[in-house]
Amino acid sequence: MPLVPNARERSIGGFYETKDSPYYITRNDTALHNLWRVMSFGANRILVYVLFILVLSSGTALSQGNTRPLHVQELAPGLFVHQGVHALMNAENAGAIANVGFIVGNEAVAVIDTGGSNSQGEALLAAVAEKTDKPIRYVILTHVHPDHIFGSAAFLRRNVAFVGHVRLKEAMEARFAHYLAANRPEMGSHLDGVELVLPDMTVTDSLTLDLGGRSILLNAWPPAHTDNDLTVFDPASGTLFSGDLVFLEHLPSIDGSLRGWQRALDGLAAIPATRVVPGHGPIDSPWPAALEPERRYFDALARDLKAAIDKGIPISEAVTSAGLSEAGHWRLFDTFNRRNATAGYAELEWE
Ligand SMILES: [Zn+2]
Repeated sequence: MPLVPNARERSIGGFYETKDSPYYITRNDTALHNLWRVMSFGANRILVYVLFILVLSSGTALSQGNTRPLHVQELAPGLFVHQGVHALMNAENAGAIANVGFIVGNEAVAVIDTGGSNSQGEALLAAVAEKTDKPIRYVILTHVHPDHIFGSAAFLRRNVAFVGHVRLKEAMEARFAHYLAANRPEMGSHLDGVELVLPDMTVTDSLTLDLGGRSILLNAWPPAHTDNDLTVFDPASGTLFSGDLVFLEHLPSIDGSLRGWQRALDGLAAIPATRVVPGHGPIDSPWPAALEPERRYFDALARDLKAAIDKGIPISEAVTSAGLSEAGHWRLFDTFNRRNATAGYAELEWE
């Protein structure tokens, strides 16, 4: 007869045992025997727990040990950056083409962009763990492009808040599937594990995040590089993480508004930083001088497009020559200039 009437199962410490279980106790057992059984059951369970925890922790150690930390440079105390390569995302670079980094306060860490693949996100996570034992509190996504957000899944389930421009969520939902499909041929299995990770916190205008004795200022921008650009300013080090509002060496790509970006340059220049970490290009660049190459390119492109439009030159012809005077100044010029010219023509046509 069961100890607990009418119960086929009963709970011991949260687990259910059935009548068939060796630990199922009947009234025929002596009190001492019962006690021994309960104790040995408890001891077995503790042993199982200990073994389980050992296996788990060795697994964690292994997985962390296998992930090579992303190479980062400490530009200022507690401010680390990895410089991406000038290329399109491919299997060789594992999507690590954008600059990503993190800022360490007295209490917590803010990560700025997660990279172009799950493996880059994991490597960035390992780099944070290598440099500090402070927990990551925020993962800031500067905009929707895949080279900046594809590493986000590595930071899931770590009690972090993902932070983005108020328009980021909509852009991610609209484009994520396309980004995955479009990059699959070049990236292959490097896209495994990439997940759509939407922002938990959004920035409409500006937002200050406290990392413990170190506050960073986030600004949301009107359409420029994209319609969801966010910058991060760290006054403690005078460093601006511009996201892709600043490109150096690598030709800027216009996915928002040419005129909007031209206007944003003045607002950006007013940020009292001394150095910028651009979205692409040298990670320790002087501020606001780093804005000048972009300003020159946008002015040339807009001037050429405006002239073509005024002369009635069709878009198909205008985009073959607009901005060409800038060709010698930029990497990946042929990849992006015609696209920029096409976007710019469509925009300037309505002025
Ligand atoms: Zn971008």
